[in-house]
Amino acid sequence: MTSIHDLANPGVQKLTPYAPGKPLDELEREYGITDAVKLASNENPLGPSPRAQAAIAQAMTELHRYPDGNSFEIKQALSAKLGLEQNQITLGNGSNDILELIARTFVMPGEEVVFSAHAFAVYPIVTQAVNGVMKIAPANPAGHAMPYGHDLAAMLAQITDKTRVIFVANPNNPTGTWLPKDELYSFIKNVPENIIVVVDEAYFEYVEEGEYPDASQWLGEFKNLVVTRTFSKIYGIPAVRIGYGMSHPDLADLLNRVRQPFNVNAAAQAAAVAALSDDEYVAKSLETNKQGMAQLIGACEEMDLGYIPSVGNFICIDVASNTGVDTGAVYEGLLHEGVIVRPVANYQLPSYLRITIGTQQENQRFIDGLKKVLAK
Ligand SMILES: *Cc1c(COP(=O)(O)O)cnc(C)c1O
Repeated sequence: MTSIHDLANPGVQKLTPYAPGKPLDELEREYGITDAVKLASNENPLGPSPRAQAAIAQAMTELHRYPDGNSFEIKQALSAKLGLEQNQITLGNGSNDILELIARTFVMPGEEVVFSAHAFAVYPIVTQAVNGVMKIAPANPAGHAMPYGHDLAAMLAQITDKTRVIFVANPNNPTGTWLPKDELYSFIKNVPENIIVVVDEAYFEYVEEGEYPDASQWLGEFKNLVVTRTFSKIYGIPAVRIGYGMSHPDLADLLNRVRQPFNVNAAAQAAAVAALSDDEYVAKSLETNKQGMAQLIGACEEMDLGYIPSVGNFICIDVASNTGVDTGAVYEGLLHEGVIVRPVANYQLPSYLRITIGTQQENQRFIDGLKKVLAK
């Protein structure tokens, strides 16, 4: 008898599903802990913007209606904020939805998708799901100024006449590494214009480096460019799922053809409009992140642990190389201390754990927990 597994398309048969951060409830249930902290999913530690919460409460009075399938209000707000036409914006159920729409729109079985080693886990998933072939470029070496970051020359070298899409994460998750303006611009210029270049800017709002580019500025020049952003990170509403793509209108038109008619729910649309206007919340989030990043880096230096310099709201810390302790044991030990972080062995970074920057108190819980676990 045929196994069900064998009936799946070959890409799906080989696919490893996305492993999310462990939910707080699950840890508390399994370990009998009541005051656990989660620093595992790059969530905003401040809780949601009060404006977004109020907007959702209002949206709930219309639960019996389908959402606006064209997401008019949030498109209008984004278009004003970004200086783009509404027909350049594609809304998604999280920006992961946009990444998937791109693969479904442009990649046929056997065609190739290029991305870097240590790049965001959703790129292999959306590629394999459409039977695309993954071409993984080697990343920068450990000793590089941007260790484990994208090597754009190596990515260009992966291009063949079968390449359809290239995913660039700027900054990348889980490494937190980033690409400066000149390098990224000349990379895109060097990519043949029949290949779609996706610049994933999920952490755009966190980055303060002067040379960090806003790739959406180049949309007028490159018809093959899609820039994605999300409301899940600094805007603090990952629970409702909303993100967006920015592109030439013709490319947006293609994505719109394969998009589910109501892929962005009403609560998400309302919350996003409110979150987008909450400058105070965004500024406070940025400040909290800056202080928390300094706190965690200080702890790494005090404990003589390596880390990957990051411009996101997370940092990968090498808990194993200088301590001789097994990374998995440190992760488990932290769980027992009520601290959830993210193992990144699946990203070929086996000695690291990725820590999301939390509040001052949450970061301290992590630091104290780590000291305790490493002292055992
Ligand atoms: C978090 C993240 C996303 C976005 O996730 P959504 O919640 O689906 O918007 C996209 N890319 C990277 C690199 C991320 O880390």
